[in-house]
Amino acid sequence: MEQHDKVYDLIGVGVGPFNLSLAALLDEIDEVEPLFFEQNGTFEWHPGMLIEGTKMQVPFIADLVTMADPTNRYSFLNYISKNERMYQFYYLQRLDIPRREYNDYCQWVARQVESCRFGKRVTNVRHFKDNEEIFEVEVTDVASGQVSVFKAKNLVMGTGSVPVMPRSFREAPSEDVFHTADFLPNQDRCRKASAITVVGSGQSAAETFRELLKEQRDCGYRLDWITRSPGFESMEESKLSLEHFSPDYVNYFYQLPQEQKDEIFANQGLYYKGISNHTINDIYNLLYEYSVGREELNVGLQVLSEVKDIKPKANGKYDLECYHYQKKESFTHESELVIAATGYKPYVPDFIHHLEDLLEWDEEGRYKVTADYRLVQTKETSNEIYVHSGISHTHGVGSTNLGLSIHRNKVIINHLVGRDLYPMNEKNIFQSFTV
Ligand SMILES: Cc1cc2nc3c(=O)[nH]c(=O)nc-3n(C[C@H](O)[C@H](O)[C@H](O)COP(=O)(O)OP(=O)(O)OC[C@H]3O[C@@H](n4cnc5c(N)ncnc54)[C@H](O)[C@@H]3O)c2cc1C
Repeated sequence: MEQHDKVYDLIGVGVGPFNLSLAALLDEIDEVEPLFFEQNGTFEWHPGMLIEGTKMQVPFIADLVTMADPTNRYSFLNYISKNERMYQFYYLQRLDIPRREYNDYCQWVARQVESCRFGKRVTNVRHFKDNEEIFEVEVTDVASGQVSVFKAKNLVMGTGSVPVMPRSFREAPSEDVFHTADFLPNQDRCRKASAITVVGSGQSAAETFRELLKEQRDCGYRLDWITRSPGFESMEESKLSLEHFSPDYVNYFYQLPQEQKDEIFANQGLYYKGISNHTINDIYNLLYEYSVGREELNVGLQVLSEVKDIKPKANGKYDLECYHYQKKESFTHESELVIAATGYKPYVPDFIHHLEDLLEWDEEGRYKVTADYRLVQTKETSNEIYVHSGISHTHGVGSTNLGLSIHRNKVIINHLVGRDLYPMNEKNIFQSFTV
C-alpha cells in the first residue's frame, strides 16, 4: 500500500459534471489544493444515453463555470472557440446543445484540469486524529488493483446516481432485459429483435422509444411502450416553473420542516420526471406519418399498466405479467427484449456509512445536510464533507439539476476559503416563494 504524506485541502470522490465543475473553478484558485478521483478511465456522462439528436435540458450557459465566472477559460464558448466551430455555433442559434456535445465539452475540460485523476476508485475513508485531524482516503487503481492512501482536510462527494431496476427485471439475462443506461451498447441487438418493449415514461423512456420508433419500419420489430402512469405526461417547462431550479427556491425549500419537504418533493415529479414537449412531438409526428394510408402500425402505447413480473418462455421470448390497476385486470404481453426506463437513485458509497458515528442521520436513515452542503457532524471537527449527491430530501427538486451545480460550487468554495469569493445575489428570479 502506497502512503502519501501530503495533506490536500480537498479530496473529491467521483468526477461527474458537479465535481468537474468544482475542479474547474478551483483550478483558478491558488489557495485551495484539491485532488479528485474518478473510477472510470475517462470522463463519461451517461454514455449509454448519448443518442444522436438528444439535447441538453438546460441552456449551454449552465456549463461547468460560466454562471460563476463568464471569463473562465473552461467555458463552453471557449471550448467552441478552441475547436474552431464559432461560426457554426453562431448560425446554429440554439441554447440547448446536443447531449453528445456536452459530454465532449466536459471531456475537453477534464483533460486539462490537473487535479482530476481517472481510473481511481475511492474504496474507503477514515476520519483520523494524529497531530491534526484529517481524512485518510483509500484509493484503488482500477486497472492494477494497487491501493494508495491520500490525506485531506475536507472531502466532497460527487458520486451521482445509479440505474434502478425492479427485482423481477434483474432475474432475466442482461442482454435481453436491460436499463436505458445501457441502451446504446445494445442498439445493434435491438435492430435484430422481433419485439421490443420499453417500460416507464420519463425522458429516458421517451428518447429510447423515439430512437427505436425511427428504425422500427426498417428493422421490422414490434415496438411497445408500457407505463403505469396515467399518461405519457409532459414535463413542466414553462419559464416561471423553471424558477423552481433557482437558488431562491433552494433556500426557501431548505428552511421548511423535513416532513413538509418530503410531502412537497413527492408532488413535484412533473418538474423533473416527465417528458420534454419536443420529444413527445417528435414521437407523435412519427406515429402520424407512419399511419398515413391506414397502414398497420405494429406499435403499441399502453398506460395505466404496471409490469409486475417477467417470465422466460420456451421460444426464447418473455412474458411480461402486467396489471391494469384502474380496470383491475391482469394481462400478459410477449416481448423478445425489454428496456427498463425505471430511473436512477442517488449513489451513497458504503464507506460513508463507516463514518456513521461522525455523521448525523434522520429517522429515514438519510444523512443530515447543512444549508451550505456540508454533512452535519456529531462532534466539532475541523474537517468537512461537502456533498452533491443524495440531497433531494434537504435541498429539493433542483438537487440533480445541472443549472444549479455552479451555485452549489460557489457556496462550497466560499465556505472552503472562508470568505465571499463569489458574491451571492439575494434575488435571482421574478417570483417570490416566501413572504
Ligand atoms: C440520461 C440522463 C440525462 C440527463 N440530462 C440532464 C440535463 O440535460 N440537464 C440536467 O440538468 N440534468 C440532467 N440529468 C441529471 C443530472 O444532471 C445528471 O445525472 C448528472 O450526471 C449528475 O452529475 P453528478 O456529477 O452528480 O453525477 P454523475 O454524473 O452520476 O457522476 C458521478 C461519478 O462518480 C463516480 N463515482 C462513484 N463512486 C465513486 C467512487 N467510489 N470512486 C470514484 N468515482 C466514483 C462515477 O463513476 C461517476 O462518474 C440527466 C440524467 C440522466 C441519467
